[in-house]
Amino acid sequence: MSSPYQGSCLCGAVHFEVDEIQPQMGHCHCSMCRKFHGAAFSTFGEALTQHFRWTKGEEHLKTYLANNNTQRQFCTHCGSSLRFIPSNDSGRVVEFSMGALDSSCPHQPDAHIYTQDRANWYSIKDGLPEFKGKRLKDQD
Ligand SMILES: [Zn+2]
Ligand SMILES: [Zn+2]
Repeated sequence: MSSPYQGSCLCGAVHFEVDEIQPQMGHCHCSMCRKFHGAAFSTFGEALTQHFRWTKGEEHLKTYLANNNTQRQFCTHCGSSLRFIPSNDSGRVVEFSMGALDSSCPHQPDAHIYTQDRANWYSIKDGLPEFKGKRLKDQD
């Protein structure tokens, strides 16, 4: 039985699956996410670690370690951004690129984060809550 949520990179070398996507899903406007995605912001979904697995081509992933100790994983063949790993990673949650998801998702983004780094050519007009930095959470 395959999981309800399937994802892959642009070239198809790397595939992943997710059993359950957490409801919290923010658009991140930080400059690192903008550059990593080549877009106005990134959207990362979260899954508990036991609910996420690479199903094909994990060996094609490359991990970029930034100078703030965050890590980002991408496909070495097509460059698709696939995963973000925070510097204080607890190992409890996996953050994956929503744009790589091939399945529909039951949740909608619920916030904008790191809006202090927002590109000045993009205006937020969807009415979602905005956080200058990290969103205030109970954990992590
Ligand atoms: Zn690829
Ligand atoms: Zn970011």
